[in-house]
Amino acid sequence: MHPQDIIAKKRDGAELSSEEIELFIRGVCDGSWADYHISALLMAIFIRGLSGQESLELTRAMLYSGEVLDFSGVALPKADKHSTGGVGDKTSIIIAPLAAACGLAVPMISGRGLGHTGGTLDKLESIPGYKVNLTAGEMRSTLDECGFAMAGQTNEIAPADKKLYALRDATATVPNIPLIVASIMSKKLAEGLDVLVLDVKTGSGAFMPRLEDARGLASQLVGLGTKFGVKTEAVISDMSRPLGKYVGNALEVFECLEILRGEVSKATEPTSQLSVELAARMLLLAGIETTIESSRRLAMDKLLSGEAFTAFQRNVELQGGDPSVCKRPEILFASGLRDVAIVASENGFIGSIDTLAVGKALVTLGGGRVKADEKIDHAVGFSFGTTVGDEVRKGDTLAFARCRSESQFDSIREAANRFFTIVPEKTEPPDLIIPSDRNLE
Ligand code: URA
Repeated sequence: MHPQDIIAKKRDGAELSSEEIELFIRGVCDGSWADYHISALLMAIFIRGLSGQESLELTRAMLYSGEVLDFSGVALPKADKHSTGGVGDKTSIIIAPLAAACGLAVPMISGRGLGHTGGTLDKLESIPGYKVNLTAGEMRSTLDECGFAMAGQTNEIAPADKKLYALRDATATVPNIPLIVASIMSKKLAEGLDVLVLDVKTGSGAFMPRLEDARGLASQLVGLGTKFGVKTEAVISDMSRPLGKYVGNALEVFECLEILRGEVSKATEPTSQLSVELAARMLLLAGIETTIESSRRLAMDKLLSGEAFTAFQRNVELQGGDPSVCKRPEILFASGLRDVAIVASENGFIGSIDTLAVGKALVTLGGGRVKADEKIDHAVGFSFGTTVGDEVRKGDTLAFARCRSESQFDSIREAANRFFTIVPEKTEPPDLIIPSDRNLE
């Protein structure tokens, strides 16, 4: 069967068989499908959708395009969390050492920036020397030494997703539930996990901005994880404003280090709170604790005691990063950058933040990619001093853009001036974690 026959079948809205889906994924991995075949089928899937069975088969084919890591020799429960993607969404870098400090083994496989959203691998690579290309053996030894490892897909682990991820990014086919489900779950199921917690984002900076779509995504992710025998839970969290204070690779690692070192401010509090909550869900699901309250307490204790920070320090050493970054996080910052103020155009209250525009502006500054093989600038980004509900006066600084030069700021000036909508009446900021009763509405 030729690629074009499979593409035509999906283009016309028919259901693909498991053999056809396998042929597709084999073609992605062995190069017998050209990028234009793959992209055409991705677009057909984007428009026509996939049935539950097709979605399951796609995930399965992508998962077995590589090897499933065997950590059965690891005595601790193996757990991970994954986010559906956001702006300033940096919690993995806190959660992995935190969950490890609480007694879980976390073999975390992450992705790079996708569209307007950041990726954990790109963030970690702002630490000089930090290596994210680990073999399965290196992952295992890192896990044994410090309780967690953070790596990217290799040719062995979910290679189909690596290729599809880049093509989806370049062909505007990212925000699609079955494609997101297969992408996330093929990576996560390859980790040989007992427990998986998913952070499903909703709001202007999410791939699924509407709550009902986020709920649909959450339920499909949980359903699939459960079918593959992994205890899976989803939390829906707010992405209608950037998470925490910083957006941008080095800046986000800086924020994580501050939190791991026990230095939490009003602006970074949401990052800390969401990290503790997601880690707590992992602990409860893995049976380390028996209630969500005691799980939260344990996670908070390990954060405040510095044990999560110690685990992170050890991991940086093991994965080849410059360990001095943990003592002096400011070495993450390149010299000669300019912080350009973004100011309020009128008096009032911040009513909303266009989080999608913030993510896109970061890409324009070079902090994210337009093409899969592009190098990124880890140093650029944004620092948010104000958020939804804050009262502001005309001329107040709302945020800073960290740029290479004043003229680089010109490329995002118009967008930046529209990041914030100022309204006459105070609006309450949205809940960071959407309560589960509202998830079920
Ligand atoms: N994260 C992933 O790993 N894949 C997606 O498609 C979206 C978010």
